[in-house]
Amino acid sequence: MRSLVAREKGCSAPAAGKAASGAMRGSPPSGILEGMDMSGLVDYHLHTPRCGHAVGDLEEYVARALLLGLSEVGFSDHFPLLHLRDSTLSMSLEELPHYVEEVNHLAGSVSGVRVRLGIEVDYVPGYVERTAEILSAYAFDYVMGSVHFLDGWGFDDPRYVEGYRGRDLYALWARYFQVLGDAAESGLFDVLAHPDLIKKFGYRPLGDVTPLYESCLDRVAAAGLAVEVSTAGLSKPVGEIYPGEEFLRLCRRREIPVTLGSDAHSPEEVGRFYGAAVELLRRVGYTEIAFFERRRMKLAPLPA
Ligand code: ZN
Ligand code: FE
Ligand code: FE
Repeated sequence: MRSLVAREKGCSAPAAGKAASGAMRGSPPSGILEGMDMSGLVDYHLHTPRCGHAVGDLEEYVARALLLGLSEVGFSDHFPLLHLRDSTLSMSLEELPHYVEEVNHLAGSVSGVRVRLGIEVDYVPGYVERTAEILSAYAFDYVMGSVHFLDGWGFDDPRYVEGYRGRDLYALWARYFQVLGDAAESGLFDVLAHPDLIKKFGYRPLGDVTPLYESCLDRVAAAGLAVEVSTAGLSKPVGEIYPGEEFLRLCRRREIPVTLGSDAHSPEEVGRFYGAAVELLRRVGYTEIAFFERRRMKLAPLPA
């Protein structure tokens, strides 16, 4: 039986349990506090309990989006991990058709907000063909690619955080952005999720990482992918949106489109910290955000 206790596990998930208890204590949900109109905005990164570490019915996520006035949301729960077994990290292969059916059913029955069928898929070298084969059976609106593992190490998983100790951090970051570029070129994905996730716990190299960003983003631009601007990093030790401002400026220079996501693992996290995300996008010069339908990207103006 699936645990109903939300825990932060190997993903970019906010600490859902903590946020939920905060909400129960009556703290006003962020977004509403900011008093912003979210029409014209999307949240393309919502999880579901199928991944084993998120809570809430899909209807509750959508209700929250309606309350905030978001124009569109997309579920992008964790695609089955093929290289390891851990029911607290992703849905199982058997669950995938049920997930698709559940999201599609909801999309067809909700009015006031468009609901898209997405999925968050790990990029794991050696599993690209198998992943493509599984994905091809479904009509996703978009596929988000994530790098959560480097050479088998779940570097964003709090359980394995000691893996940073004694590392050459520059080499680690170089490896991360190399693998992210590989992910972009794999042909599997439309969007790269939380593109500088390697900063999650605040372990940053001393050297200049700009060349790592640049060579990665040249590959992302050439492959025609979008990158996600994710507010999840704001509630992580790093305390910063993924990606950081410098990275996003380099995206902008290459005209790489952006999507928006909260990486919600509980309904009250939908649209969280969007004021900060929109402000960052404007500051670096973005005037449009990307929308997806059946894996076709369209750009729409960032609301004024
Ligand atoms: Zn997750
Ligand atoms: Fe993730
Ligand atoms: Fe996620």
